[in-house]
Amino acid sequence: ALVPKYPRTTAHDAPTRRMKIDLLLSELKLSDETYGKVRDLMMTAFNRGLGRKDNATAAVKMFPSYVRSIPDGTERGKFLALDLGGTNFRVLLIELEPGSEVLMKSKIYAIPQRIMVGTGKGLFDHIAHCLAMFIREHKLENETLPLGFTFSFPCRQEGLTAARLVKWTKGFRCSGVEGEDVVRLLREAVARKRASEPAVCCQQEYDIDVVALVNDTVGTLMAVAHRNPKCLIGLIIGTGTNACYMEQLDNVELWNEDYNEPKEVIINTEWGAFGDDGDLDFMLTSFDHEVDKGTLNRGKQLYEKMISGMYMGEVARQVLVKLVEEKLLFSGELSEELSTRGNFYTKYISEIESDPPGDYTNVKQVLEELDITNYTDEDCQVIRETCEVVSSRASYLCAAGLAALLQKINRDEVSDALWTAPRINRPQLVDPVMKFHIQLSLDGSGIGAAIVAAVAVRMTNAKLA
Ligand code: BGC
Ligand code: MG
Repeated sequence: ALVPKYPRTTAHDAPTRRMKIDLLLSELKLSDETYGKVRDLMMTAFNRGLGRKDNATAAVKMFPSYVRSIPDGTERGKFLALDLGGTNFRVLLIELEPGSEVLMKSKIYAIPQRIMVGTGKGLFDHIAHCLAMFIREHKLENETLPLGFTFSFPCRQEGLTAARLVKWTKGFRCSGVEGEDVVRLLREAVARKRASEPAVCCQQEYDIDVVALVNDTVGTLMAVAHRNPKCLIGLIIGTGTNACYMEQLDNVELWNEDYNEPKEVIINTEWGAFGDDGDLDFMLTSFDHEVDKGTLNRGKQLYEKMISGMYMGEVARQVLVKLVEEKLLFSGELSEELSTRGNFYTKYISEIESDPPGDYTNVKQVLEELDITNYTDEDCQVIRETCEVVSSRASYLCAAGLAALLQKINRDEVSDALWTAPRINRPQLVDPVMKFHIQLSLDGSGIGAAIVAAVAVRMTNAKLA
C-alpha cells in the first residue's frame, strides 16, 4: 500500500530528496487500519486451520501438540533435552525438583551450513554424535534418561513421540526428512552411533528414551507455565517466528483422540506461514518479494519473512539498496558489500537503533563493517530511519498476530458483538478491557522440552500404578 505523505508533485515541482525518501519509506509505514486488518485475517486463518473442512487448504495449520496439560509443579527427576531449530543445536541436562529452581547444564554445538542443507542422515548423525559427547562428558553412560526433543519446525504430530516434518524452514533443507517421523530418525541415528562406536559408550549401552517431541513455542509456554500456570500463550520471535496457545478440544475439529480431562490441548499455530495463500498480498512490498526470492523456501513463511531475525536485516538491506539506486543515499554509490545478499545483519538494526537520537556511533561502526566511507550525517539519519520503519513494521505485524491470539483465548469474556464491531477508529489492536502480561522466558525452549518429558513420565507412571 503506497500512501504518499505529500500531495502529488508536477513536473515543475520536482520532489526534494527528503520527500522522495519519505515516499519510499512510507511503503513500510502501515496504518492502524491495516494492522487491524492483519489481525482479523490472522483470526480467520486460525479458524480455518482448526476447521475440519478448511484445514487441508489452510496456510496456518494449527497443529495439535498432544500436550494436554500445564505442569503442576510436582514434576521431578533428571532429563535430557535436545533443542534444534535456529542457528545452534543444544543438548541440555535438566533436574527438576518441586519447589526449587530448575537446574540446568547445557552445551551448544554449531550446525555447519553444509549439514543444514545436506542429507537428513547427516543431520541426525551429527545430532547423535553431539549427544554422545555430551553424555560422555557428563558421565551419564550408565543411565537412560527420559529425553525431550525440541524440534522447531512445522510438524504434523501423531502423538507426543511421533511427528512428521511438513516442510523445512529457516535455511534448513536436509533431504529425506520432509514427510518422515523425526523421532524415528533420531532413534535410528542413535542406534547407528551405538553400533559404530561402542567405545564412546563404555561398557554400558548408550541409549535414549524419547518421551516427548515439542515445538519451541510449546517448550517456552511450558517453561513459563511451570512457575505460572496462568500462562496460556507461547511466542517465539527468533530466527523464525511462531506462537502456540491452549485451546479447548471442542474447537479442534480434527481432534480424533480421547476426550478425557483436561479437555484442552496446546495448538502450535505455525503462524509463520500466514500469508502463504495470498492473505498478505495486499501489503507485501517489492522489498519483501526480493527477500523471498533469495530464500530456500520461496513463497513460504511470508509473515515470518517480514518479522524474524533471519530476514529482518535483509528487508532493511533491500530498502537501503533501493535508496542508493534512487540516488537518495551515498550519492548513489553502491558498495560491493552492501549489494550482497545477507550482508546487513539483523543485529545491525538493534545496534543502530540503540544510538541516542542524533548520535551515529553505531551507524558509523556498521558502515565501516560494510566498507562504506563516502557518507554524510544525513545518510546516517536515513539509515536509522530505514531500520526504524523495518523493525516497527515487524513488531506491529507480530503484535497483530498476538492480538488475534489474545482475542481468541479471551472469547468467553469478550462478546461476539464486540469482536465483530467495526474497529476502524480504534487505535489499539486489542480491546482495552483485556488485560495480559508478557513474560520473557530465558532458555525456555530447552527447559520446556524437559518439563513436557517430566509430565509424560508422571502420566505414564500414574497409568502403570
Ligand atoms: C518454524 C516454527 C518455529 C519458529 C520459531 C518457524 O520457522 O516453522 O516451527 O516455532 O520458526 O523457531
Ligand atoms: Mg531456539
